[in-house]
Amino acid sequence: MPKQMHYIDLRSDTVTKPSAAMRAAMAEAEVGDDVYGEDPTVNRLEQLAAEICGKEAALFVPTGTMGNTIGIKVHTNHGEEVICDSRSHVLDWELSMMAWFSGCLARPIQTEHGLLTWKEIEGVRRRKGPHNAPTTLVTLENTHNMFGGTVYPQDVIDEICLEAHECGLKVHMDGARVFNAATASATAVSRIVRDVDTVMFCLSKGLGAPVGSMLVGTADAIERGRLYRKRLGGGMRQAGILAAAGILALEESPKRLQEDHRNAQLLAMRLSQLSGVRIDSGTVQTNIVIFDISGLGITTAEFSRQLKSGGVLANGISSTRMRMVTHMDVLREDCERAAALSSEIATEIVTELSH
Ligand SMILES: *Cc1c(COP(=O)(O)O)cnc(C)c1O
Repeated sequence: MPKQMHYIDLRSDTVTKPSAAMRAAMAEAEVGDDVYGEDPTVNRLEQLAAEICGKEAALFVPTGTMGNTIGIKVHTNHGEEVICDSRSHVLDWELSMMAWFSGCLARPIQTEHGLLTWKEIEGVRRRKGPHNAPTTLVTLENTHNMFGGTVYPQDVIDEICLEAHECGLKVHMDGARVFNAATASATAVSRIVRDVDTVMFCLSKGLGAPVGSMLVGTADAIERGRLYRKRLGGGMRQAGILAAAGILALEESPKRLQEDHRNAQLLAMRLSQLSGVRIDSGTVQTNIVIFDISGLGITTAEFSRQLKSGGVLANGISSTRMRMVTHMDVLREDCERAAALSSEIATEIVTELSH
C-alpha cells in the first residue's frame, strides 16, 4: 500500500488526533453506565468542567452542536426569539437547529467582528405584544469563528449579561473556543463566563480530545438539559472512555494554546505581505486566520486545490475568503511551509498575469 501522504492540516482545530497520554488514559478509564449516572470518569469530567467555569453543574455531550442546541432549549419556549450575530455558528452551521428543535426564530445582528454590544441587542429586542414574539435569549460566540477567532472584551460581556438579566433575558455563550479566548485575554474562563447562564465549550478542538463538548450552567439548567440530551440520542453509556481524554484535555491543553496563537500570528504576518491577499491582522487574536484572496483572481476552491497539491489543507469559507486554523498537531515550521506555499501560488499567478 502506498504510504499515506502527510498533509499539514489547517482546515480546523477539530482535526487533532489524541496524544499518547490521552490514548493511555482512555484505555485505563474506569467506566459505568452514564445514563444511570454511574460512569465515574464522566462524573469527574463534569465536575471538573463545572469547577473550571465556576458554575454548579456540567453535562458531557457528544458535540458542540448538541451543547448549543440544549443550551438554547433550556432557556426558551417555542415561538420566541433568540438574538445572535449574523454569522454565528448557531445560525449558519447547525442546520437550523434553533428552529428545528427549540422552535425559535433567530434575530441576527450584523456586526463588524462578530461581537455584539448591549446597545445593538437593545435595538432589536422584542417585547411580547399582539404582533411580536418576545426575545428571551441572547447568544454570544466567543471566540468568533467566522470573524477570525475574535475575542469579546470582558466589559462588553459583563454589560450584556447585566442588562439582559435586568430585562429577564438569558445569555448563552457559544464558547466552543472559550479557552482560546481565556489565553488571549489572560482571563480565567470562570471570569469570562461568570455572568452567563450557560456556556458550551468544545473538548475536541484546540484542547485536542477526540470527541466531546461540555454544557455548563446552573444545577437546574443542567438537570433539564440531561433529559434533552437523552431525547437527542446523546445518552452515551460507558462514555468514560471519551471523558478520560476530556479530563486530560482540560488539565493539560490550555497551557499550550499560546503556541497556537503565536503560530497564527506568524501565518497572518506572512500572508499579509502577499500581493493580492488582504488580511485584517488586528482580528487575528487567537488560532484562526481568515484572509481574502480576491486580489489573486482565483477562487478559494482553486487556491485550496493548489495548496493541497503542495501538501497543505485549508478551506475557503466563501468564494473569496480562506481560513487557516492552528492547533497542537501543526508546528511552527508547518505554518512557515503553509505561508511559503501560499506565497509561491500567489507569485505564480501574478507572474502569469504579467505575461
Ligand atoms: C465547532 C463549533 C461548534 C460546535 O461544533 P461541533 O462540530 O458540533 O462540535 C459550535 N460553535 C462554534 C463557534 C464552533 O466553532
